[in-house]
Amino acid sequence: MFDSLNERLSGLFDRLSGRGVLSEKDVDEALREVRVALLEADVALPVVRQFMTKAKELATGEEIIKAVKPADQVVKIVYDGLIDMLGGEEPEPLNLNAVPPAVIMMAGLQGSGKTTTSAKLALRLSKFDRKKVMMASLDTRRPAAMEQLKLLAEQVGVDFLPIVAGQSATDIARRALQAAKIQGFDVLILDTAGRTTLDEALMSEAAEIARIANPIETFLVADSLTGQDAVRTATAFHERLPLTGLILTRADGDARGGAMLSMRAVTGLPIKFLGAGEKVEALDVFDARRVAGRILG
Ligand code: GDP
Repeated sequence: MFDSLNERLSGLFDRLSGRGVLSEKDVDEALREVRVALLEADVALPVVRQFMTKAKELATGEEIIKAVKPADQVVKIVYDGLIDMLGGEEPEPLNLNAVPPAVIMMAGLQGSGKTTTSAKLALRLSKFDRKKVMMASLDTRRPAAMEQLKLLAEQVGVDFLPIVAGQSATDIARRALQAAKIQGFDVLILDTAGRTTLDEALMSEAAEIARIANPIETFLVADSLTGQDAVRTATAFHERLPLTGLILTRADGDARGGAMLSMRAVTGLPIKFLGAGEKVEALDVFDARRVAGRILG
């Protein structure tokens, strides 16, 4: 992950640490390199601009030029800026603070990894948090997707709302809620339909489901490999749905990290988890310190 950004910054810091005292020009050069590195990592331009303004403010103080270890100062400024960009040091916990069942709604484009991520979350909640979890598929247009979630539910050992042919997504949402309530489930995960593109039918259906199910968490699942497209998707969903957080998948193959870095700043939504592989265990709590640390190497 983040190879290009990491390489660029380490080259720069090697050069900086070879010197005793820095000039203001050196600091400018360092910041220019940071800017290029962020753009190369596919961070959204407005986010880069915001980042640079802040970094410049901090860097033009005397502290850097007079610092005993100027490279460390620049690293600190970049680190703090990255943490800020990623939403702060502390991971934002999953919110289950609802009268049971706590409903978690999963939304996203087809192929984003939504169904797999639903199962990953179910596994985490049942295995580590000892919650009684039910999953339901609302993807009425793709029977194969419903079957896929059913198989995943069996695999991770949680309950699955039986499939009833011919029901609408909103009917399934109502039935799932009722079943989860009556049977005393702690958490109900609703996997909604995905589409290949954003469309009005998808959005209004998802908005209606959210209205009926009143989820405590509404996650957009987005493929981090799609970079700025993932950021645009998140913005579009957020305009129509009361999203509470983001889950970025395929972080395991994401060498640039642009979506990860821009997502929070552009949408204002916390990234709560990262998908880190195809296996159902491969879900990491998003930790800005780890991400920033990896960027800086
Ligand atoms: P959906 O259409 O959004 O429900 O997508 P799926 O859950 O069916 O996932 C599509 C493909 O992406 C599957 O082959 C998954 O195994 C794979 N996938 C999902 N999440 C991840 C991830 O975090 N990393 C990797 N490498 N593959 C993933």
